Amino acid sequence: MPQRTGALLLVSGPSGSGKTTLCRQLARDGEAHYSISCTTRPARENEVNARDYFFLSREQFRDDVSAGNFLEYAEVHDNLYGTLRSEVLSYLQRGQDVVMDIDVQGAAQVRSCDDPLITASLVDLFVMPATEDELRKRLANRATDSEEVIETRLHNALEEMGQARFYTYQLISGSREEDYRRFRALLVAERMRVSRLA
Ligand code: 5GP
Repeated sequence: MPQRTGALLLVSGPSGSGKTTLCRQLARDGEAHYSISCTTRPARENEVNARDYFFLSREQFRDDVSAGNFLEYAEVHDNLYGTLRSEVLSYLQRGQDVVMDIDVQGAAQVRSCDDPLITASLVDLFVMPATEDELRKRLANRATDSEEVIETRLHNALEEMGQARFYTYQLISGSREEDYRRFRALLVAERMRVSRLA
């Protein structure tokens, strides 16, 4: 049977769009490796180091930047977030699909990356909340964040949505089940791209 190279499914969207849930579900179903990001933000109550994020101090993060360990990194909501090269490249090389949940600044960096493996693997998708009201509701339902954090996130969300046009695919969020069905269908189709077949 022909071998193929992995697809790099890059997903962005405002907080509360449901994108993290989609990415996590895909990984839980064994469809792709979830790229665990580094962040300087404190862990939320239910989060576990090296499962949800690698939680780093600003100093540790800066050391990784200096060592060239990041494929991309950006400041988001006053914290640093970055993707380690090791979370992506080795999987793609082995023909495994990778899903990454990153912001619009990080997405722009990955898109302009000159690594041929990244360029050949990349599939970028923006998850859009159906309406502003829906987004507000979802953000407010996140009991883990304070009022102030929710307001910052809402403001940033509206700005981020202006970047959706730079993505190849856009998923307008409906029900969780329907979103996941369409999300998985995108990966299934991308696996059949002739250019991925060795
Ligand atoms: P949260 O703090 O809610 O987990 O994530 C906040 C934002 O940071 C989300 O938009 C998420 O996509 C983004 N983010 C998470 N990991 C990374 C990363 O490695 N790089 C970049 N650029 N953004 C990230």
